[in-house]
Amino acid sequence: MQVTHDVDISVVIPSYNEKDSLPELSARLDEVLSALTARWEVWFIDDGSHDGSLELMRELHGRDPRFKVARFRRNYGKSAALAVGFERAVGRYVITMDADLQDDPAEIPLLIEKIEEGWDMVSGWKKKRYDPISKTIPSKFFNFVTGKMSGIPIHDFNCGLKAYRQEVVKAVNIYGEMHRYIPVLAKMAGFTVTELAVQHHPRKYGHTKFGLSRFFKGFLDLLTVMFTSRYTQRPLHVFGTLGGAMLLAGLVINSYLTVEWMMGYPMGDRPMLLLGVLLMLLGIQLISTGLLAEMITKSDAKAGDYHISELHE
Ligand code: UDP
Ligand code: MG
Repeated sequence: MQVTHDVDISVVIPSYNEKDSLPELSARLDEVLSALTARWEVWFIDDGSHDGSLELMRELHGRDPRFKVARFRRNYGKSAALAVGFERAVGRYVITMDADLQDDPAEIPLLIEKIEEGWDMVSGWKKKRYDPISKTIPSKFFNFVTGKMSGIPIHDFNCGLKAYRQEVVKAVNIYGEMHRYIPVLAKMAGFTVTELAVQHHPRKYGHTKFGLSRFFKGFLDLLTVMFTSRYTQRPLHVFGTLGGAMLLAGLVINSYLTVEWMMGYPMGDRPMLLLGVLLMLLGIQLISTGLLAEMITKSDAKAGDYHISELHE
């Protein structure tokens, strides 16, 4: 398949009630992008705003059709907005950024430079952050754990400002609140990931759309990412190993009790019995869960799940 690009840069911007930022944001984008190429597009994904953003976006599109708009019927969340933007983007390079002017359009050329050095994805790093401390401290912890678990040595997973080769955005599947883990998803799909320190600004208008609960949910999502990217193709390997070990331990305990019982010791009042039975039951349940997961995987697996980077036919 020969890919040609009529557009050099696509910028994808999830936007939820950010009307006040839009005039300045769009003017600065026009300025920065036009200095690089005339062949750019900006996708505003309006995530069900109710502050009049849509009218402004329509007007922008009317003035310069390179500003494009997709409007959600209701608020679906940032991940959904990115997913739709990624589906629509046709540029050779794809940039994502927040709509609230906390990310600086002036970084775009630097991010692209980094991509041109040969990386598939560059994640922004808000080295000096302008956010309340209630956010920066949990975020440090979150990034530390995610970095350790995924083995990706970057400082800031959830920075809104990122750059990708188009192949990356077409390959990653973002849903729920998985936008926090795009670097992990990209790496699991076989792409190279690096970071670049970027400027960060305090929010000028409006307020943050995420509360503290983001961190708790974030860790659950990390579990999902790690699990699905490693074991989706072979769930029985996890469930079966864990379940098998439990079943075996339970069997050993109960056999030991049985032997003792045959030698005349009473068995009914021994706490070990409970443990043995519990382990056996749990073990069998885990193994069955693994087998069920295998059935689901089997009916769903296809060659398209594997990403080919080069093909000579
Ligand atoms: N956003 C969105 N849908 C939502 C919540 C947020 O499209 O349901 C957008 C928001 O408009 C902004 C970006 O996602 O452009 C990041 O949101 P925010 O600035 O509130 O997050 P923070 O900077 O506090 O992490
Ligand atoms: Mg913000």
